[in-house]
Amino acid sequence: MVLRAVGILLCAAFLQAQDVRLQILETTDVHGHVLPQDTFTLQPAPGGWARLGTLIRNLRAANPNTLVVDGGDGTQGEPMDYVWSHLKPGAPEPTMALLNALGYNAMVVGHAEFDNGLKLLRTMEEQARFPWLAANVCFASTGKHAFTPYVKVEVAGVQVAILGLVTQALPRLVGPEATEGLAFQDPVACAREFLPILREHEKVDLVVVALHGGMGSAPCGTDEENPALCLARNVKGIDLILAGHTRQQVSTRENGVPILQAGTGGQVLGVADLTLRRGKARWEVAACETRLVQPGAELEPDPAVLLATSDMRALTETYLNTLATTLGTDLDGRWCRMEDTPLAHLLHTVVRSATDAQITAVPAPGSRLFIPKGPTSVRQFYALAPDEETLARIRVTGGQLRAYLEQAARYFAFSHLPDLFNRAAAPDAFDTLDGCTYALDISRPAGSRVVELNVQGKPVKDDQTFSLGLTSRRLRGEGGYLEAMGWRGTPETVTGTSLRNLLLAYVMARPNLTVGEAGNWRIIPALDRERVLAQQP
Ligand SMILES: [Zn+2]
Repeated sequence: MVLRAVGILLCAAFLQAQDVRLQILETTDVHGHVLPQDTFTLQPAPGGWARLGTLIRNLRAANPNTLVVDGGDGTQGEPMDYVWSHLKPGAPEPTMALLNALGYNAMVVGHAEFDNGLKLLRTMEEQARFPWLAANVCFASTGKHAFTPYVKVEVAGVQVAILGLVTQALPRLVGPEATEGLAFQDPVACAREFLPILREHEKVDLVVVALHGGMGSAPCGTDEENPALCLARNVKGIDLILAGHTRQQVSTRENGVPILQAGTGGQVLGVADLTLRRGKARWEVAACETRLVQPGAELEPDPAVLLATSDMRALTETYLNTLATTLGTDLDGRWCRMEDTPLAHLLHTVVRSATDAQITAVPAPGSRLFIPKGPTSVRQFYALAPDEETLARIRVTGGQLRAYLEQAARYFAFSHLPDLFNRAAAPDAFDTLDGCTYALDISRPAGSRVVELNVQGKPVKDDQTFSLGLTSRRLRGEGGYLEAMGWRGTPETVTGTSLRNLLLAYVMARPNLTVGEAGNWRIIPALDRERVLAQQP
């Protein structure tokens, strides 16, 4: 009781009568997650817009002087995004519908919003009842801004500007087609141009930068993709940075500037509590505290979020529950890293038929994926390739093929070590090949583990050439395979359709499907199933 009284006295002394308490809330990288459950396993999962919505309303009720900003990548990541963009693009887009329902003040454009091309991007933007911000994106032909650069909002007499900036790496991330006709400027230089406009011309009291980009590294110029630290160090006059894109959770200060970044999937909400005090010329920041708040399991889902997304969620459920095929074989992800399996063989078959390549490469599916024989649904196959990655065919030499397999073999530590797996490799970085036979001896040092490599029964020579079908993710460099091969060039073909849709088309064209296996590769020494089961990532 005594302690509480002291606390109230201290607060009263600190908060002067004319002070304004302002609250800025940030969501970012939610990627279409609405319900607090996993779409594929249907098990409870943290995060999602439904609980975030309730948390936002609770915080706004506690302090009505509240602004809500999204840091981008709010869409793309869930089957619902696919159903809207590919099957029902004329319907209201569910993420914009729920952001409208929650009364967002602004959103900075994320790279995911470009994924389905500029036409659907503009469709989403038109449906938003708040501005889509990006001050550093212009039309290349005219130099005019392609999005709203900033928005000015008055809250309790305080003039607030929210300036939007996006990562300059965006064209590289989404490809040239999706950004055709647009020019991306350096966000730091752009912020330097806008700060005097906001302070002197617009006479704002508070400048918030909403950045679709992460913290990055200092000194500047080494990480163009994530310039939050650069902005804090090199641009005078920013009161708060709301970062995003890298899915990190951040609540910190750099060079005195508070930086917030609300992770991914709606697992946390970024909260900035500011105290504004009347200065000689304008309101000044007397205090700014940032924190990350979890939307806990005790929060009921927000009814308006549920309503705004109900039609598209229902369509998505119908789609995911569609009968895919009746399987005559279990598809089991557990053994895909130790031997050829029906599951990996099915993926190789799809890559071969789509790319017409002699040799195919696929990443080993997750070790927890399991589709039991019997009737199966679209949901089960969707979980195998949830991203929109496509396939390509490239031409490689026999030497490059060997280098590809050496890279795959780096997934393992020495066979005699207690831990069988190289923990520095990404969990999805082990690829297998089909169309050749090979053996990887993991008792040997990395780089000399391919002890057998044959095509049509004959040893592969370094100067032979082959066509190789692989995923777009590998073609972008993920897993280090391109670098290991020293491959540069242009693919012979790229499929316009995603691996997932090619897989679904293949299985749905066969009411009954029994999958065999090629048994075309082995690991030396033969691995023990119990050891693989206990240790694999
Ligand atoms: Zn992004």
